[in-house]
Amino acid sequence: MENEKAVVVFSGGQDSTTCLYWAIKHFKEVEAVTFNYNQRHRLEIEVAESIARELMIKHTILDMSLLNQLAPNALTRDNIQIEQKDGELPTTFVDGRNLLFLSFAAILAKQSGARHIITGVCETDFSGYPDCRDVFIKSLNVTLNLAMDYQFVIHTPLMWLNKAETWKLADQLGVLDYIRNKTLTCYNGIIADGCGTCPACLLRKKGLDEYLSMKEGIKA
Ligand code: ZN
Repeated sequence: MENEKAVVVFSGGQDSTTCLYWAIKHFKEVEAVTFNYNQRHRLEIEVAESIARELMIKHTILDMSLLNQLAPNALTRDNIQIEQKDGELPTTFVDGRNLLFLSFAAILAKQSGARHIITGVCETDFSGYPDCRDVFIKSLNVTLNLAMDYQFVIHTPLMWLNKAETWKLADQLGVLDYIRNKTLTCYNGIIADGCGTCPACLLRKKGLDEYLSMKEGIKA
């Protein structure tokens, strides 16, 4: 893969930033694509922009505001609470989001001569989002290849990792502190360690604590 070009679906969060570094390690040329779907926090786009600038990566921001128009959700509307009722998907789930994002990323990739698409979706610590599952990604990969008569390869380096293992991967890539301090995962739009109380912060912190204590245990 070293001689090839890749496009990373990039939000400026922990997972996709880890994927960006993973891609830089494995591919000759890497670019990033970020989707603007009127996230509650404009900061998300700014964080993505500043990381891409720092890494000197070509960065495309695509307007996907139609997603908010079609499927109002807690990530875009202040008046929708972030919550999960028993047996239901959380209100942060957006129907079709990864289907659309990956399809647009594929069009962009083909335009720029890239076959490889990297996304930070994960089955392990996730909230049951159907379009984060491995089977969906494999199915979409086939569909995209047929749709554009092109041999895309969708890579999901985090698919089987839990949050602690994602921190471990960041550490192995030598960027644990960078990811910890510069990325934005928090639903309340607070960079780095975040608000500490929203579901995204809790998941991120639990993983980090687990990884750091595991690492200390190995050292001791
Ligand atoms: Zn938070």
